[in-house]
Amino acid sequence: MKVQVDLNLCEANAICVGLAPKVFDLDDDDVLHIVVDEVPEELQKRVRMAIDRCPKAALSEG
Ligand code: SF4
Repeated sequence: MKVQVDLNLCEANAICVGLAPKVFDLDDDDVLHIVVDEVPEELQKRVRMAIDRCPKAALSEG
């Protein structure tokens, strides 16, 4: 699976980073980066949780 972020919606609250720090990273300017191209199998559950829990609905699969 892949995951993408809509930076127009993201408010940089780091909920996704807390759930999957190997996939999501906030830089020094509070811009979220997806640091993997394909989400590894063992992290997919956490990434789906992040998609569900993002309060701004900024994350999506694909
Ligand atoms: S949980 Fe959503 S709003 Fe928060 S940093 Fe991640 S993408 Fe942005």
